[in-house]
Amino acid sequence: MIQSRGYAAQQSTTPLAPFSFTRRDPKERDVVVEIEYCGVCHSDIHSTRNEWGNAVYPMVPGHEIIGRVTAVGNEVSRFKVGERVGVGVIIDSCRQCASCKNNEEQYCEVGTTLTYGAPDKYGDLTQGGYSNNILVDEHFVHSVSTKLDPAGVAPLLCAGITTYSPLRHWQVGPGKKVGIVGLGGLGHMGLKFAHAFGAHTVQFTTSESKVEDAKRLGADEVVISKDADAMKKEAFSYDFILDTVSAVHDLNAYLPLLKRDGVYCQVGLPDRPPVINMGNLLFKRRALSGSIIGGMAETQEMLDYCAEKNIVSDVEVIPIQKVNEAFERVLKSDVKYRFVIDMASLIEQ
Ligand code: NAP
Ligand code: ZN
Ligand code: ZN
Repeated sequence: MIQSRGYAAQQSTTPLAPFSFTRRDPKERDVVVEIEYCGVCHSDIHSTRNEWGNAVYPMVPGHEIIGRVTAVGNEVSRFKVGERVGVGVIIDSCRQCASCKNNEEQYCEVGTTLTYGAPDKYGDLTQGGYSNNILVDEHFVHSVSTKLDPAGVAPLLCAGITTYSPLRHWQVGPGKKVGIVGLGGLGHMGLKFAHAFGAHTVQFTTSESKVEDAKRLGADEVVISKDADAMKKEAFSYDFILDTVSAVHDLNAYLPLLKRDGVYCQVGLPDRPPVINMGNLLFKRRALSGSIIGGMAETQEMLDYCAEKNIVSDVEVIPIQKVNEAFERVLKSDVKYRFVIDMASLIEQ
């Protein structure tokens, strides 16, 4: 057994608090990682507060993990002790279904094993990265360039790949007009990628205070989504819109902005379903779609792309003792643009 320390939710209504636990013994293909940084994703809030109705406690959240390898099993070929690595949202899948064979493990037809809050194939409850260590099969571990700031890389493991994958899938690039809805953790990465891919990129935000930041992060234009007149001017002009908003909001305000055959892609996962006016889809053959993280090969491709282009997340690094405060600030859209926990702070408790 491996001894671990972290912060856990004991139930949906209690704040995260210090928690000691054990992880299983490493197997032949496992990589043991000492965690240096872990990003704070809005999914960690939805999950620990049981907003999706599937929480299992105690729950150590965290799936934007960066650390150093401290041990490897006999059959590990891709990693050595001392290397910097990343772990994201899933740590296992069946590896045999059509999706897994197509390098899209995130759509595994048997079901993925989430990094936290899920039973693994050994019957243990997985626990995430708000902790000092983790062990993961090497297939679900990624190489991370030491050229980049590790705190800024951590959010790439979820916010980064979740926006990179749909932008690539729908071939966002030069000549395309693209909207990013919501300027939070996911949104600011979507904005950076759409801009880097060469699309004409428009940021939609409810926060007037974020307009200048949006431009700095790569927006060609910024639209305040609460301004109905400004929204009307954008009608019929978008090829693709990526919606990263964490709360229920009116999609019917955005669907008319798509051109004929335009695609609206939902990556934000609010706790209640939206109401869709079907006319907004039918009359211009528009598509409403969704996307979840990315496959393991694509995640590595994204990390390599970020190393080449010098792309990292804009982060506010916090000690773990401030994580409950950080959750409250995320809920107020008061984060620029991702909190990342410095795991060295665990020693202080
Ligand atoms: P976040 O940092 O809180 O960003 C969400 C942004 O949405 C906010 O900054 C805000 O942007 C906007 N917003 C918040 N409340 C709103 C409201 N009531 N109406 C309109 N806009 C609102 O969250 P995140 O970490 O980026 O995560 C976003 C969502 O994606 C969450 O639901 C999360 O669970 C989900 N997620 C999905 C995947 C996936 O694989 N599909 C992966 C990770 C996360 P402005 O201030 O600019 O308006
Ligand atoms: Zn996430
Ligand atoms: Zn599978």
